[in-house]
Amino acid sequence: MTVARRARFASPGPAGTGATHASPEIRSAAEAASGRVILLGAGPGDPELITLRGLRWLRQADVVVYDQLVSPELLDEAPPRALRVFAGKSARRHCLAQSVINGLLVEHAGAGRLVVRLKGGDPFVFGRGGEEALACRAAGIPVEVVPGVSSAIAAAGAAGIPLTHRGLSSSFAVVTGHEDSSKSATVEWQRLAGAVDTLVVLMGVEALRAITRRLAAGGRDPSTPAAVIRRATTRDQECVTGTLADIAARAAHLRPPAVIVVGEVVRFAGLPRPGADALADRSDPELEPTSRPPGSGTLATPSIREGTLRVV
Ligand code: SAH
Repeated sequence: MTVARRARFASPGPAGTGATHASPEIRSAAEAASGRVILLGAGPGDPELITLRGLRWLRQADVVVYDQLVSPELLDEAPPRALRVFAGKSARRHCLAQSVINGLLVEHAGAGRLVVRLKGGDPFVFGRGGEEALACRAAGIPVEVVPGVSSAIAAAGAAGIPLTHRGLSSSFAVVTGHEDSSKSATVEWQRLAGAVDTLVVLMGVEALRAITRRLAAGGRDPSTPAAVIRRATTRDQECVTGTLADIAARAAHLRPPAVIVVGEVVRFAGLPRPGADALADRSDPELEPTSRPPGSGTLATPSIREGTLRVV
């Protein structure tokens, strides 16, 4: 396998200068030791929602190990010569076993390569980033975590729903709807039902009916507004709203990836948001995005009812 050797920076972060180029064949001990793994959050879907630091690392990568939910446009930001490895994890489809992914990271970084582990959203939110960090540390590989914009936060925002709002919601919780039967820890739906104002459920579309039933059984009012937001922040974004009682039926056609939001704040769904196109219209040409952002007007958001809250 040929992976171009690139100079690395001694300081954390990719902003340094002073690159030196060695031939691929000649690898000094110092160079091999410069390998590292960057656990990098790619953001929720829109390629513009990666962080500046993340983009800088990505543009330095020798190897990019990426997941299902990563935008293809972001992969184009890696150097053309970078090795791209699809790890392909989604709730149902595991292309590479976690142990194989861990082994890849350790092997490439151990050979002196800058390995970017590019994960949808934030690497430490239901992304198994913790396991990868531990595997690297156990092998003596330096790891940097670059947080990402998690769909747990961004999906609601992209649908116009504030997770907190004065007088309506002073707490939110993020839970998984995909319960791994091999794990002993499970989500305590009934306790959760009344414990927080806004509930955000990831990986829950396929269990939506069961989840809403459990929340209602836990005492959550069946008339509580609820939304399912699919492929948030992308051009394909869809948002279906309803109540705890009927959201499962209304959103039955939606496939993953989607985030479920339950709480009074869902009344805000569909508030007009300034589209990224509007931002592009106003922006400095120097800062124009390299990839086309998702347009505004991608929301298919029926208003659930005439809310008592009006925001102008
Ligand atoms: N680390 C990721 C979450 C990985 S778990 C993050 O921080 O966002 C995968 C789940 O995330 C999906 O099943 C879905 O519930 C949610 N998800 C990720 N991207 C999404 C998107 N663009 N729109 C809606 N849901 C998304």
